[in-house]
Amino acid sequence: MVRALILHGGAGAWRLGQLAEKASEVVKNCTERAWRVLSERNSALDAVTEAVVCMENSGYLNAGYGSTLNLLGERELDAGVAASTGLLGAVAGVKSTRNPILLARIVAEKTPHVLLVGENADKLALLYGLPPLPPPPVHVVERYRETLRKLLNEEISDSYYKAIHRFIQEGVYSKLVGSVLGVYDTVGAVALDDSNVLATATSTGGVTLKLPGRVGDTPIHGAGFYADSSVACSATGIGEYIIRTMPCLRLSLEYNKYRDASRALSSVVEYVNRVAGLNTMGFIAVDRDGKILYAYNTEAMLIGYVYENEVRVNLKPEPKVNIIE
Ligand code: ASP
Repeated sequence: MVRALILHGGAGAWRLGQLAEKASEVVKNCTERAWRVLSERNSALDAVTEAVVCMENSGYLNAGYGSTLNLLGERELDAGVAASTGLLGAVAGVKSTRNPILLARIVAEKTPHVLLVGENADKLALLYGLPPLPPPPVHVVERYRETLRKLLNEEISDSYYKAIHRFIQEGVYSKLVGSVLGVYDTVGAVALDDSNVLATATSTGGVTLKLPGRVGDTPIHGAGFYADSSVACSATGIGEYIIRTMPCLRLSLEYNKYRDASRALSSVVEYVNRVAGLNTMGFIAVDRDGKILYAYNTEAMLIGYVYENEVRVNLKPEPKVNIIE
């Protein structure tokens, strides 16, 4: 009997402090809940869905209720779910649905499509009775304001924010930007059940201060999430780099080429670091043998997993590229 489960609460520059502590607690509780579902129902798909719904509802991670705000102080949420059975669904730019991962699953299970966007996706959520997205928690709004203030005062050296700042300076958005920010991170989960089904689920508010209409890697199969009969994977980090390097799809291709998880993992990490550079992303995965894989090139990546029936949570797991068997 082989079961495996790993969750992430995002890769990036996690600041230590109360919010990081809360986020770690959330990941721990959600790992426990998802493990219970995996054990009781023997469904990797239900387990990753449970994990992501739990993190979306927490308010302390960048998904669902806790999602970061875009340049205009609004939320636009993305999510994707897949399994080795061929199940595949995603949503992008959703504004009023609390659990985009449940909507992605509805797209996969109830429609002939793979990806739905915007307000029509929100309407589908209403038709299926999914709960609405409540207003953002206070700490998300405060963080938005603080990040916008720093951005406008040019106190942020990160190239992504510099590009957003240049865009604002060109005048198009300057009149619209009034309030602003929250920067936590995307959430994801991957699992293997006893029936050898591999499943993955990922959900995000995207990157802070993104331009309205921007869609990241999270709803793009192969980039932010991917599952086939070899591996299930969920990525986090700067979507623009993840889409360019396709770490999750790449992991499966390399896995099948080398027939060796360790070589596949190093090959993907080498490629990502060379093409996208450091400080760009992280990912978690499970292979068909139940090995847990993770890698990140950012300062931190919050993960939770089950090892010998015990839940472990780590904000800065060492080594940064690792296989847990
Ligand atoms: N990958 C997400 C995006 O670019 C953000 C994140 O992982 O925090 O939309």
